[in-house]
Amino acid sequence: MRKQIVAGNWKMNTSLEEGKKLAEQVKSILEEVPNNVELIVIPPFTHIAEIAKISQKSSLKVGSQNCAAWDKGAYTGEISASMISSTGATHVIIGHSERREYFAESNETLLTKVNLVLQNNLTPIFCCGEKLNERESNIHFKVVEEQIDQTILLLSKDEIQKVVIAYEPVWAIGTGRTATPEQAQEMHAYIRSIVEKKFGEEIANSISILYGGSCKPSNAQEIFSNPDVDGGLIGGASLVANDFIAIAKSFPS
Ligand code: PEP
Repeated sequence: MRKQIVAGNWKMNTSLEEGKKLAEQVKSILEEVPNNVELIVIPPFTHIAEIAKISQKSSLKVGSQNCAAWDKGAYTGEISASMISSTGATHVIIGHSERREYFAESNETLLTKVNLVLQNNLTPIFCCGEKLNERESNIHFKVVEEQIDQTILLLSKDEIQKVVIAYEPVWAIGTGRTATPEQAQEMHAYIRSIVEKKFGEEIANSISILYGGSCKPSNAQEIFSNPDVDGGLIGGASLVANDFIAIAKSFPS
């Protein structure tokens, strides 16, 4: 059975104290979430080590929003996957559309990052997704296929099984506009079929594919009820503990 995952990308929000409080709040209501749902909080770098201490001895996982494309050295301001690993974090978001857009991260860079994440025994949450004009021009499948083809499809069979994929249509991120359940299912099934073509059915069926884009308690259930949607990467709604937990309780039983 595929892992069901709800991951909260806090982006550049919360002070350290606010972040610790939010993590404590999420932890305190963890028991309400079904056992088979993995919950991950993904705070800013500065908070990870402290929040990893809070989540220790609980099922709550902690991730980072990015990592450097190098292992170590003279790269002022950068944070490597091995440093992230040393804090107790377990996951790293790679290729979020905000990183692709504001920091011009190319597919080549993203593949380097995914490899570094895997080498440090961390789980990459690899993001892909089309922009609004690309969907309107009906090239969204081609765009997403290219993003995957030039990155995670180049991994080995062993490596790809360690990746979590997040489909995040850029036009739905932080806009309040959500993909319809049909649009999400259609793209998730397509992504799975691309993985299947390269790695076979068993591996494709084992990979969790999360939806991201204005997911909230009021729409999570409809989105998560689709057969190829294995959870969500949540931005805005992950900053409110009760909303985040409500989303994590939205899988069909
Ligand atoms: C995100 O940034 O990954 C995201 C899904 O944001 P939001 O939920 O706010 O649309």
